[in-house]
Amino acid sequence: MIEKLKQNEELWDLFTKKEEYNLTFSDQYERFPYYLSSQRNVFDPKVSRFMVENGLHPEYPDGKKFAVCLTHDIDVVYPEKLYPIIGTAKAFAKGNLTGAMKTPFSRVNKKWNPCWNFKQIMELEAKYNAKSSFYFLALHPGEKDFDYKIEELEAELPFISDNGWEVGLHGGHESYNNLADIMEKKQRLEKVFGKKVIGYRNHYLRFKVPDTWELLSKAGFKYDTTFGYADCAGFRNGVCHPFRPYNLNTGKQIDILEIPLVIMDRTLLRDYMRLDVKKAWELIKDLVDKVEKCNGVVTILWHNNTSIDGKNLKYYEKFLEYVCGKNAWIASGEEIFNWWSNNVEKRE
Ligand SMILES: [Zn+2]
Repeated sequence: MIEKLKQNEELWDLFTKKEEYNLTFSDQYERFPYYLSSQRNVFDPKVSRFMVENGLHPEYPDGKKFAVCLTHDIDVVYPEKLYPIIGTAKAFAKGNLTGAMKTPFSRVNKKWNPCWNFKQIMELEAKYNAKSSFYFLALHPGEKDFDYKIEELEAELPFISDNGWEVGLHGGHESYNNLADIMEKKQRLEKVFGKKVIGYRNHYLRFKVPDTWELLSKAGFKYDTTFGYADCAGFRNGVCHPFRPYNLNTGKQIDILEIPLVIMDRTLLRDYMRLDVKKAWELIKDLVDKVEKCNGVVTILWHNNTSIDGKNLKYYEKFLEYVCGKNAWIASGEEIFNWWSNNVEKRE
């Protein structure tokens, strides 16, 4: 497939993100934003369409046509520092809470806490026969955006994993560009968790092509799911399948699987695209339908503390209902990685 792509210069440049090499401008988080890209139709997975026309026909468990990868970045677990659009803990207390959510299961946290909601998220996903990935920060006090010590979640990590959901690393602000930092945070998370982690996403979707992939591969990660634009939903390199990135500097494929991010909750609304809820929903459906046509994977990032119209998981559930109704295989990043590397890549 790589050889076929190479013959099409336009698609090859898009697939490898040639335009992101040797940047002369980036945003305040050193990111390459969509508004600078020469690609003007980020909603078209044109590289994936080419791959499908040229023989890529991934299959999924139980004969499902396409897959959805569910992910959550855990930036915040303490309600006093909630993301601004979420409202107050009081508003939560008045809202529609399930009985399960009112019962904290942490032995560390005695008080009820709306952001300590891993169990509630898992119960919701289980209703749709789905699993997901939780990416945890392993920041030290004083580091930018520090909210919790990973040691405080000592009881939660095995609970998540023992039930079949995934625990992965959410790298800190500088991790994407610093191997020592990635490795230190990985080791710290693994020490508390008691197991190896294979999945990664960087905080703020900070990412440098191709360096971050190389660093993550060196640090022992099997897959990354950072690669999407913060300022626009869609397909950053025209691909809506997991893929092995190609390093134009070395002329080699990088030993890591990218499960590209398609939709981040915060991209759609106030922070970036400024869609209203109705328009955001139309866009989500359109992206899902396009991925379905390519037998691809839709990766969605839904923060545990995102709230729309004062309701924490209502819109997330709407998404689950939609993709479940389309008979998608709804899985964690780890499950997607295992399936892709053991089935799809082996058959190619
Ligand atoms: Zn984050």
